[in-house]
Amino acid sequence: MPNVNKYDIIVCGLGGMGSATVSHLAERGIKVFGFDRFHPPHTLGSSHGQSRIIRQAYFESPAYVPMLFRAYQLWEKLSQDHGKQLFNETGCLMVGEPDGRVIAGSKLSAETYGIPHEILTAAEIRDRYPPFQPADNLTGIFEKKGGTVNPEEAIRAHLENASRHNAHLGFEETFLEWKKCPGGSGIEVLTDKGRYQAEKLIITAGPWAAKLFPDLRLPIKIERLVLHWFQPDGGTDPFLPDRFPVHIWKVEDGTEFYGFPYDGEVENGVKVAIHNRGTPCDPDSPDREVSEADIDQMRTLLAGHIPSLAGKCLHSVVCLYSQSPEGDFILGPHPHSESEDLVLGIGFSGHGYKFCPVIGEILADLATTGATRFDLSPFCPTRWINSQSA
Ligand SMILES: Cc1cc2nc3c(=O)[nH]c(=O)nc-3n(C[C@H](O)[C@H](O)[C@H](O)COP(=O)(O)OP(=O)(O)OC[C@H]3O[C@@H](n4cnc5c(N)ncnc54)[C@H](O)[C@@H]3O)c2cc1C
Repeated sequence: MPNVNKYDIIVCGLGGMGSATVSHLAERGIKVFGFDRFHPPHTLGSSHGQSRIIRQAYFESPAYVPMLFRAYQLWEKLSQDHGKQLFNETGCLMVGEPDGRVIAGSKLSAETYGIPHEILTAAEIRDRYPPFQPADNLTGIFEKKGGTVNPEEAIRAHLENASRHNAHLGFEETFLEWKKCPGGSGIEVLTDKGRYQAEKLIITAGPWAAKLFPDLRLPIKIERLVLHWFQPDGGTDPFLPDRFPVHIWKVEDGTEFYGFPYDGEVENGVKVAIHNRGTPCDPDSPDREVSEADIDQMRTLLAGHIPSLAGKCLHSVVCLYSQSPEGDFILGPHPHSESEDLVLGIGFSGHGYKFCPVIGEILADLATTGATRFDLSPFCPTRWINSQSA
């Protein structure tokens, strides 16, 4: 039996959310141990692909906007500490039917929180951004403060910050099991490399969380999604970040897709992806081969809306979503009394990355003080997990 190592807090999973969490905890002088089965950043979970959309006029719900305001402040601070700009403002254009979820929801958040925005007709969109060819029945909402963040670089920045503040980080270290500490409060974690005790365990294991903690009955389903880089007809100039924003579309059949300006990460390739047509999978064995059918599905959408991109696909990569029942994050202590020392940061449902630094701050607050300045009622685990023991 290995010796027990004692900490204030343990963090399981050091991807997007876990790296931010260990960074905030270590900065506060908390004795924290964070560990990951791989060595993040890596390409097997949810936090790879070089770019993520960030925006504030949040169509999903105004409940997210206060966290977004704080996330923007923290991205700026992290960039300064890291010595590299992690956030790139390109503007964000949402396109859809005037009364549909993307347009009406963005407008609601923008108006509720006074976020500057412009409403554009389809003709105005075509005129301002020639690669976009929306049909006349679609409309747009443009938010200047939208842009991109780089997930791999942000994970490096958070892990470096955590190390600088004396966090103990374990890589290539796999979670095996947990139990209540014998005879007292707190939890004990066994990994393939050691035995650890702490007051709290924060679970940020992304798409693996439900599989690692089957007794907790975490309500997330894992989906396989594909990112693509298409080569534009006529070159990448019309897609440069100073003239082409990040964009999100909801089109006739309900498909939501999105894309980015050209950033040179894949030479001559402009990044696009479908958001809401994922296929269920096991996080340990998703099909990582990208098929012609995957590429054709994307190309057909591009042909209808961004025709100059509907040509050659240069590169594609598979990524995993952790879908919660309604697409909302799951944040807070596990509600069963024997598991309440476990704090959940899961179910980010394909839209969590932009929040990483603020989620790290919230999980650190919850694990150390039990409270946060944000209204987390829409994200409370009791919405989906019965508070009675299973
Ligand atoms: C294709 C795609 C596009 C997206 N686009 C956007 C976007 O534009 N904007 C946006 O805001 N969000 C976006 N998202 C969502 C966002 O990227 C995710 O919400 C976020 O990355 C989730 O981070 P995570 O920390 O929960 O998971 P991960 O980063 O996957 O971290 C989980 C970690 O747990 C570790 N782990 C697993 N098992 C074990 C074990 N047994 N022991 C120890 N550690 C373990 C893993 O190795 C991993 O490092 C997108 C996601 C995908 C997949």
